[in-house]
Amino acid sequence: MNETNIHVIYGSQDIQRMAYELMAAMDVASMLEKDTRIALKPNFAVSKPADSGATTHPEIAEGILHYLLERGFRDISIMEGSWAGADTKTSFRVCGYEALAKKYGVPLYDLKKDAFVERQAGGLTLKVCRKPLLETDFLINLPVLKAHCQTNLTCALKNLKGCIPDSEKRRFHSLGLMKPIACLSKILRPSLTVVDAICGDLTFEEGGHPVPMDRLIGGADPVLIDSYGAELLGFSIADVGYLSLAEKLGVGSTDITKATIHEHHVEEKQQTLFRASNTARELASRVTADAACSVCYGSLIHALQRLKESGKRIPDGLCIGQGFRGKSGKGIGIGNCTAGFTTHLQGCPPTAKTMADFRSGMS
Ligand code: SF4
Repeated sequence: MNETNIHVIYGSQDIQRMAYELMAAMDVASMLEKDTRIALKPNFAVSKPADSGATTHPEIAEGILHYLLERGFRDISIMEGSWAGADTKTSFRVCGYEALAKKYGVPLYDLKKDAFVERQAGGLTLKVCRKPLLETDFLINLPVLKAHCQTNLTCALKNLKGCIPDSEKRRFHSLGLMKPIACLSKILRPSLTVVDAICGDLTFEEGGHPVPMDRLIGGADPVLIDSYGAELLGFSIADVGYLSLAEKLGVGSTDITKATIHEHHVEEKQQTLFRASNTARELASRVTADAACSVCYGSLIHALQRLKESGKRIPDGLCIGQGFRGKSGKGIGIGNCTAGFTTHLQGCPPTAKTMADFRSGMS
């Protein structure tokens, strides 16, 4: 698969189908031999269902399993290690993976119980679990696109932290997170990343403030995927310290301008309306919305949160949604639907780049 390709599929109703179709669009089967040892690595740092914004929807793993099993691939496992102090077995159950594994006869591995090996990268020696590193040929990383209070973004690269022992997870924090996350991605580069961007958390990896973004994102370059995701959440590349470090180590590229974005089911963008929750509701109260698509409104909520975090003023008069089509206005319109406004941000939804520019333009 071309490393510069990013595939985005929109929707929210049938996540399993979305994951299946994303795999087909990327023609993943052509990258595999029948005896390839395949591992799925979801994110369940904590034991909470996916609609909390914290963990990977099991429907994504199910869609991928369907795709692979249907094509005769049999050596498939699911592996994860919850964050330090949490119990992976409980997470497997609460997050729906225990039932999934039973249904498809796929083994689950708690990486907290795995042996580890030491490897060096970027001047650091890191302990990494054996199974994903030495007993897997094709690692499919299934992160959730979320904001994070320390690293700003948690997505493809940071999800790999589930593949190290708990003691190493704690050491990562003492090392400031950025450098060890970048070095780990050099040692354990996933073959494929499928991002759960259905409803990741607005502020922290623990969930509780889900923001509907209603899409899955797939690609081979985890740095490029993270760079794309960062901009979707209103961060610049510089805001996420480990991205440039990983790029310098040769893990991938942060240059979104060179990426080819393949969008699938674009018609779904306009069929799923935004559902606000908790903190998102407070931010949404600053916006006049009329039939706003979640893909558009979700990015706006993230952008407003980023403004708030940086101590900048949230502008008045923000308007978004299909209800503004053909109307004029003196406020600040978001998206092509508000093209009649004196000031508006183009895009349907506004692209990652314009969302990134939005921050400085509005402040
Ligand atoms: S610009 Fe309008 S139609 Fe397009 S995503 Fe935004 S709200 Fe939906």
